[in-house]
Amino acid sequence: MNKPAELKLETVPVWINGKALAPSGRFGEVYNPATGQVTKKVVFADSSLVDAAVKAAAAAFPAWRDTPVLRRARVMQKFLQLLQAEQKALARIASEEHGKTLDDAMGSVQRGIEVVEFACGIPHLLKGEYSENVGTQVDTHTLRQPVGVCAGITPFNFPVMVPLWMFPLAIACGNTFILKPSEKVPSASVRMAELFKQAGLPDGVLNVIHGDKAAVDALLLHPQINAVSFVGSTPIAKYIYETAAKAGKRVQALGGAKNHAVVLPDADLEFAADALIGAAYGSAGERCMAISAVVAVGAAGDPLVKLLEKKAKQIKLGVDMGPLVTRQHRDKVASYLDIGLKEGATLVVDARKQQTPQEGFYLGTSLFDHVTPGMEIYKNEIFGPILIVLRAGTIDEAISIINKNPYANGTAIFTESGGAARRFQNEVQVGMVGINVPIPVPVAFYSFGGWKSSLFGDLHVHGTEAVKFYTRTKVVTTRWPHQDTPAPGFDMPTLG
Ligand code: NAD
Repeated sequence: MNKPAELKLETVPVWINGKALAPSGRFGEVYNPATGQVTKKVVFADSSLVDAAVKAAAAAFPAWRDTPVLRRARVMQKFLQLLQAEQKALARIASEEHGKTLDDAMGSVQRGIEVVEFACGIPHLLKGEYSENVGTQVDTHTLRQPVGVCAGITPFNFPVMVPLWMFPLAIACGNTFILKPSEKVPSASVRMAELFKQAGLPDGVLNVIHGDKAAVDALLLHPQINAVSFVGSTPIAKYIYETAAKAGKRVQALGGAKNHAVVLPDADLEFAADALIGAAYGSAGERCMAISAVVAVGAAGDPLVKLLEKKAKQIKLGVDMGPLVTRQHRDKVASYLDIGLKEGATLVVDARKQQTPQEGFYLGTSLFDHVTPGMEIYKNEIFGPILIVLRAGTIDEAISIINKNPYANGTAIFTESGGAARRFQNEVQVGMVGINVPIPVPVAFYSFGGWKSSLFGDLHVHGTEAVKFYTRTKVVTTRWPHQDTPAPGFDMPTLG
């Protein structure tokens, strides 16, 4: 039984203008997925609270934008130190609200911290270009200026890492920011805002609000917000992109995924199977870069499925793999077992036959073989611990399956052949590619993002593409006239 809402539960506040606030109004429930209990309630912002956050961010913008970049970088460095000191505490919050194991949460917090390391180099990243004598006594240079007030809307599956993909770089570039984390995992974002303040960030530069569609819509339509970053499922990503772009904002909206791993017959199958097990079932499959579909080529198929079967059955629930985020999501994922059976796929490992803790939103591992592209278990992003195997005769067939899929976030190939791997990276239409690397999440100084239905917008997150997203370039052409300077003409200037 869940605790009734009247019991005194800790309230996760919003963070506006450097202060935690918990006004009365709507609240959501925060669960511990490992126990199935409600553990906290979270303030759901209405449009007036969203407006207060935007006003705080707009008021803080002029001074922050003009703060020398070296000083902004020093605040980032201090924030980095505080995050490093608090890594375990942040991972614990993520684990308690999301359900992932503590070790897994530690890894994802580390990947987020690496974006802050990258953001510490902001003085170098914001350098412009300069050309002398583009015309007679004329010089041209570029400036990179912040875009203003930015908003970030994040999903439940990485409570620390995905927010860190956004706000540190936006803020390092001189913007102010409003973060709307997933209402299922709200606490870590507020803690990070407290740490950033402790690092010396002026009030109003980072604000955190919580809520559902009402809060998001208020952000998307607010006239003082200039740019929106989103990470979440594809239908919502598309909605965010269309709504915010129509309201005149710059948008990057990262969506869902169906990530394929191709295994060629020449691959080290034991190595590939170990990699696929971690990539498919780690974080209970709730990763946008999880491998959810294996394309086994030719003779790789039967021995690979045998290895996957053995290893999937060895995963211990509650030790190696945590629960799913909510009961509703667990039941939805489990419903794909019947769907797959009805569609004629072979259920090699069945979660329902495994011992499952009584409490919490657990679901064991499942493995389907002989899946075909027309099946619902192939077409949908299941986002849970169900791995499917398709069979292909050749690498061409495998690449063609992947290229026909509307999602295009990540993919991997397992092979000993450099030539096959090179062909794969060249021909596959996917944003992030791993060669004998199952989860090719780029390091922070490269950019992360998919293609097709996995990204609406043009620029990816973190790395140099994020610096482009969070800045506008201005080109300045200069002439300082003196007595020899020719008089400006009437026709289109050629400057020569
Ligand atoms: P989601 O799309 O349900 O929610 C994401 C955010 O949007 C949350 O903050 C939520 O409050 C908000 N939201 C939800 N419904 C909304 C609506 N109708 N209108 C406006 N806002 C709304 O995603 P989720 O379930 O939290 O996260 C899982 C999804 O995120 C998966 O599809 C996963 O693949 C994807 N994801 C993608 C990436 C990537 O980099 N491409 C990374 C992580 C997660």
